[in-house]
Amino acid sequence: MISRLTGGCSCSAVRYELLAAPMFVHCCHCTLCQRQTGSAFVINGLIETDRIVVTGTLTMTSMPTESGRAHDIYRCPTCLVAVWSDYGRRPALRFVRVSTLDAPHTFAPDVHIFTRSKVPWVQLPASAKVFAEFYELEKEWPAESLARRRAILG
Ligand SMILES: [Zn+2]
Ligand SMILES: [Zn+2]
Repeated sequence: MISRLTGGCSCSAVRYELLAAPMFVHCCHCTLCQRQTGSAFVINGLIETDRIVVTGTLTMTSMPTESGRAHDIYRCPTCLVAVWSDYGRRPALRFVRVSTLDAPHTFAPDVHIFTRSKVPWVQLPASAKVFAEFYELEKEWPAESLARRRAILG
């Protein structure tokens, strides 16, 4: 069993707890995620907003996207570490940055997306589910997670 899923920013002004495991975990290798993190990829855990208990206030920044869909990043106003995103202005759904968990290795990615721009020196395991761009939700998400998603997004 996983113990409490707590996390936060670097200065601890923002702390949070996830009340459930994420429904699904993306490892995104797109060039925007690479730029926004200054790294090779980002790991996002998709979870219902109402399953996150947050202490501290967050500041929101809107980011450009290739698709033109909104991408709002929520950060600690003091240290500016990003703790989660809202893709597509869906208030009930958050993309938590898994590496901000106190135990950041708790969740491995369910899928790797936008691997067309994966850095060449990152080797993914043979068992990884890899998509050049995106994937079909209905095919990849477990039934239980699809039900959770339906409950918030219809
Ligand atoms: Zn902070
Ligand atoms: Zn991305």
